[in-house]
Parts: sequence; structure tokens; C-alpha cells
Amino acid sequence: MTERQKFPIPSAEREDVEEALGLLWYQRELGVTDGATLRGALHAAGSPEGFDRLVRHGFVREESDHVLLTSSGDELARDVTRRLRLAERLLTDVLSLDRSAVDPNACVLEHTISPEVTESICTLLGHPVECPHGHTIPPGECCGRKDGRLSPIVVPLSRLAVGESGRVAYLQLKDHPELHRLLALGVIPGAPVHLHQTFPAFVVEVGESQLALESSIAARIFVRRAEESKIS
Ligand SMILES: [Zn+2]
Ligand SMILES: [Zn+2]
Ligand SMILES: [Zn+2]
Repeated sequence: MTERQKFPIPSAEREDVEEALGLLWYQRELGVTDGATLRGALHAAGSPEGFDRLVRHGFVREESDHVLLTSSGDELARDVTRRLRLAERLLTDVLSLDRSAVDPNACVLEHTISPEVTESICTLLGHPVECPHGHTIPPGECCGRKDGRLSPIVVPLSRLAVGESGRVAYLQLKDHPELHRLLALGVIPGAPVHLHQTFPAFVVEVGESQLALESSIAARIFVRRAEESKIS
């Protein structure tokens, strides 16, 4: 069953409902659950009636001062968050849009991509776990299987074949001590990479320099594979 049939919401309201649920999901990640703050946040986001609409649809309920997502609210909020954050990754890593263009476009895409397309995007991107802002992408069913028929376009460096080339898409090394050294060495989004060997260390050419990397670091550098290797 598609999620559109599962949560019958009039189409005029669907986008606002999804925006509001996405906002509540994000606020909950930040630890914010009190009703007054969340009503204010929805108001500030241009949806003064958003909260009452969610209550009316049975997506949230209030318990003393706290806002709780109901099970259907939780499911839809998780789903729209997943779609938004995958869209951000797609626009950033594959289409290489400017940061300023990513957010508004992802915010439109999140409401339009079907569950099937969402899975395809996730698979093509190698089941990413974080959006470009560093927020967790809720995993889908495809992330557990990881064996889809589509071969990913964006893969960890550690999964390239020897001799394969690509470009750095992003580094999943937030707060990692190696991050600054790698950036200083030119391991930055867009830099061309070529994998020379994988044992005893990963030896890669990045731009002009040749680097040896531990496999734990190579697993956190995500690379957009070169055109010719995508089809394999
Ligand atoms: Zn949106
Ligand atoms: Zn994001
Ligand atoms: Zn996935």
C-alpha cells in the first residue's frame, strides 16, 4: 500500500501537513517537545493553523504540556523527513547544485517523490545515513537489504575497485580528528580521486597528491563514481 492511500489527506492540505510534521520531527531531534514552543515554531514557519490541523488529522496529541506524535504521525513525519534528506543528498551529490538551490528544491521534492522513487534514490546514493546538514536520514527497507538491482552512484571510497575513478561527494567525518588533515590535503567535495591499491592501505590519488588511508577513513569518504563505472 502506498503511503498516500495509507494517510488520506486532502491534497490541498497534504503539503502543509507534511511540512508541519517534518518540523515537529526535527524539533524532537533537538529535544523540543513542549506545546507552546512548537506552536510558535509552526507559526514562525508560516503555518499558524498547522498545529490544530495535525491534531484534527490525528497525527499529534498533547499530554500535559508535551506534544506527542501518534503512531500515524510518527510514521508520516519519519517518511517525509527521509524524503527531504535524501532529496538534499541527491541534489548535492549527484546534481551538484549550489547550497542555496538545494534547500528550496529539496523542500518541493520531498512532497512529490513516491515510495518507489525514494528507495531508488536511496540505493543510488549508497543508502546514506546523513543529509548534507549532518542530520540523520531515517533508514528505509532498502537500507537493510543493500543488495538492490541498482548499483550505487555514490559509494564509500573503500568500495571502489582498484583502478576506479570518481570525485569526492562528501566526507562523513564530522568531529573526526582526521577531518582537517584530509581537507588540508585536498580531499574536498568535487576533487577527482583514483584508487590505486587497497592493501595494506588504501592508496588514492586525490587531485595532485597521493595519499595512504586507513580503511576506517576510506569508508567515510563518499565518492561519486565516474560515468563509465556506473553502468557495470
Ligand atoms: Zn517542503
Ligand atoms: Zn538536511
Ligand atoms: Zn536505503
